Amino acid sequence: NGGGGGVGRMDRIQVLVRLRPLSEKEVARGEPVEWECINDTTVMFRSTFPDRPTAPTAYTFDRVFHSDCSTKEVYEEGVREVVLSVVSGINSSIFAYGQTSSGKTYTMTGVTEYTVADIYDYINKHEERAFVLKFSAIEIYNEVVRDLLSAENTPLRLWDDAEGTYVENLTEVVLRDWNHLKGLISVCEAQRRTGETFLNEKSSRSHQILRLTVESSAREFLGKDKSTTLVASANFVDLAGSERASQALSAGTRLKEGCHINRSLLALGTVIRKLSMGSNAHIPYRDSKLTRILQPSLGGNARTAIICTLSPATSHIEQSRNTLLFGSCAK
Ligand code: ADP
Ligand code: MG
Repeated sequence: NGGGGGVGRMDRIQVLVRLRPLSEKEVARGEPVEWECINDTTVMFRSTFPDRPTAPTAYTFDRVFHSDCSTKEVYEEGVREVVLSVVSGINSSIFAYGQTSSGKTYTMTGVTEYTVADIYDYINKHEERAFVLKFSAIEIYNEVVRDLLSAENTPLRLWDDAEGTYVENLTEVVLRDWNHLKGLISVCEAQRRTGETFLNEKSSRSHQILRLTVESSAREFLGKDKSTTLVASANFVDLAGSERASQALSAGTRLKEGCHINRSLLALGTVIRKLSMGSNAHIPYRDSKLTRILQPSLGGNARTAIICTLSPATSHIEQSRNTLLFGSCAK
């Protein structure tokens, strides 16, 4: 699509793929790796088993990161441009989508830290403006929203006004510096674990949204002119394991519980697909808590990147293909 004019919908959803390295266990099991990044934008599956021949399949995205790439490279080459729009008043959402153990949390934690470091760098270079950075964190589990920065752990309600959907009584912390953020991320991780016997079960079924809000005003108008204030938020979304969505889809009505649990994930898929088609059709944001909360950071002029995380293990091939299918639908 030609340049000029506004940013097209296609440009606003960046789809990135990241392959993680084999884990020690997978190496010990002798897992073969049949995924290969053939260039910066294409990942190829090629069966190495003569008794299991499949035609090589290539998948193309905006950017593909092979297993030796660091999170820093993923951030700098795939995420930075999308997320830094927040300092100029443009909302953004960065998603990690993939099966449990594919590297979603690993990737999102790093990406969030690099973003905040970059924003502080930007702030130091723009002394003509006064900045305030705020941080909040929620978890959505079984369509129940909880504050990850509050010890009370009570479910929070959503409410709407003309500007969008808000989470009631959500803690919002004014960030002092990068180390403050690191500390808060640890609080969220600890909070995600409290009282949870089936830890993996929960972390694979819940969505986490870390939200960074940037407010800035020109110093010369400080306190005089509200119209010079810019406010936007960047959302870092560590999604529930995608294996749930495909299970729920394939089991149809038999797995009611699975469907309910994944309401947010399924709704997100529909919203992203409709947005990527650039149609003016009705976008069903209101179908889930996740899409309601993220609505201001998905449509309109908001910028979006989806990082599809893949396990390279051949035993995960079906899930990896489902993940790439999701990614393809977002283009
Ligand atoms: P998920 O959140 O998708 O369930 P994790 O982020 O917890 O997966 O990753 C699973 C394991 O793999 C963790 O031990 C993590 O440290 C490791 N891991 C994930 N991605 C990478 C990577 N790119 N490089 C090295 N280790 C990784
Ligand atoms: Mg995780």
